[in-house]
Amino acid sequence: MSETTVYLDNAATTRISDSVLDAMLPWIKEGYGNASSIYSLGRRSAIALSKARAACAEVLGCKTREIFFTSGGTESDNTAVFSAARAGREQGKLHIITSAIEHHAILEPLKRLEREGFRVTRLPVYDDGIVRTADLEAALTPETALVTIMAANNEIGTIQPTAELGAICAEHGVLFHTDAVQAFGSIPLDLRSTDMMSVSGHKLHAPKGVGLLYVKETVPLHPYILGGAQQSGKRAGTENIAGIVGLAQAMSDAAEGMEAKNAKLLPLRERLISELSALPGTRLNGSREHRLASNVNFSFAGHEGETLVLKLDLQGIAVSSGSACASGSLDPSHVLTALGLSHDEARSSVRITMSKYTEPGDIDALISALAGIIK
Ligand code: PLP
Repeated sequence: MSETTVYLDNAATTRISDSVLDAMLPWIKEGYGNASSIYSLGRRSAIALSKARAACAEVLGCKTREIFFTSGGTESDNTAVFSAARAGREQGKLHIITSAIEHHAILEPLKRLEREGFRVTRLPVYDDGIVRTADLEAALTPETALVTIMAANNEIGTIQPTAELGAICAEHGVLFHTDAVQAFGSIPLDLRSTDMMSVSGHKLHAPKGVGLLYVKETVPLHPYILGGAQQSGKRAGTENIAGIVGLAQAMSDAAEGMEAKNAKLLPLRERLISELSALPGTRLNGSREHRLASNVNFSFAGHEGETLVLKLDLQGIAVSSGSACASGSLDPSHVLTALGLSHDEARSSVRITMSKYTEPGDIDALISALAGIIK
């Protein structure tokens, strides 16, 4: 296996940026105090924690008490779903609405809630991968406790109309959560009609194992992790100061660099789409316009996605495929089948995701490698 020289799987994870690493290092080396300790080493950590919280709040345009640091997107999503379900159960509301293409960090908690008596409506996304506001309006009932719809999809990069969806929920007095793990730092996010929002550090050039959940102050948060009084008693566990400092730096960098990143990536995305469309048997998956500048997802008829990924890896190029190799069988992605793709079409997909570090030469290398393999 050759070294990976072209990294195009940034929806899976991203490399840590120098600014994030520099911000974190003092809190890994000397500043190891527990933020709950009252001596100065601990107090320094507590100050770093509150500065990081203030930086995240400034980026999101919210209050510091509306931010809860977590271990990442999965915990933030689980917390949002179970907290809203608990509040719903207390009011006799046992209905939740989501989309068919959410991340498993949303879908699996919802499956558990179904087993516990909740009814879950999964809104369709049609062939463009977009939820329709009319479908949401039709699905809402007086029993709806929560609507959770991701801001941008991790496989096909489609962007949902979260401002409109959130406004409809607000009109009906229903909680609205959005998983912004892929969207934050790539599209503007409006918190006005969002009650809860998940963010993950490792998609933003911060390390794995840190993220946050924004919770509007008027929304009750039922803790998901128990065992300590940290974070106003709402999320137990000694705070990961270095990770949180890194997350704050990454969020500030992402917000500041969003326009420049999109200006750089949009032409690269368009080039990829037009050149890959010209290869035999290819099709773009998901909306062409309403998608992240960083995402391209193609099916290659007659080719197994996993095989293409492995062949590209031999040439030092990292991308991913739309199938998960679980227990020896290649399960097609639920996202691609929700678009109406057959199992074979879904299994033949490849996801290419860029970051601020992607250069035109990376795209040249990928296009020529793929063209060689396909021909
Ligand atoms: N939600 C989305 C949309 C994601 O893409 C991911 C990660 O792939 C997650 C949630 C989970 O985040 P984490 O890896 O930080 O737990």
